[in-house]
Amino acid sequence: MTAIGVLALQGDVREHARMVREAGATAVPVKRADGLTSLDGLVIPGGESTTIGKLLRRFGMLEPLRSLVESGFPVYGTCAGMILLADRIEDAGVDQPSIGGMNIAVRRNAFGRQRESFEADVDVPVLGDEPFPAIFIRAPVIEGVGEGVDILASVAGERPVAARQGRLLVSSFHPELTDDARLHRYFVDMVEGRS
Ligand code: GLN
Repeated sequence: MTAIGVLALQGDVREHARMVREAGATAVPVKRADGLTSLDGLVIPGGESTTIGKLLRRFGMLEPLRSLVESGFPVYGTCAGMILLADRIEDAGVDQPSIGGMNIAVRRNAFGRQRESFEADVDVPVLGDEPFPAIFIRAPVIEGVGEGVDILASVAGERPVAARQGRLLVSSFHPELTDDARLHRYFVDMVEGRS
């Protein structure tokens, strides 16, 4: 069975694991670098990207993850996970470690104070006609995309909030807080070579 790791340093680890199982794969919580071996893919939950980055560095996972991403290992980053996969962070925190690998620029907390958290029905054409019930929590936005990146969804006048590049998938919203497993299924399909 396909084994998908869920980075278990911060965030909705249990909820992501439930979604991974619903998508037909085995979910494996990952806390240390040796847990990264023998996985078919990895989900990086949301949280606080500077904190997750610093924990990755402290536990010696930053370099192994960079190498994995470079070698084409599939990773799905949500919210802070998306920030960690971006090659450029417009307003990075002081000493903010990141994994990188995806040819995008992101802006953290992009939706402003009064809309720090909101829900929106978002069209994600690769998932079919039914809009996705997207939950945004102090969410980042994609501000620039380079070669090889496909935008999968946008909100509020074409602000990109989900994208794919090769076997890297990112969304600035939190599908694990909904009952909609379509994005996780899309990721598992990607891992298994079906999408
Ligand atoms: N604002 C957070 C950050 O910059 C991300 C928020 C989230 O993951 N829900 O890391």
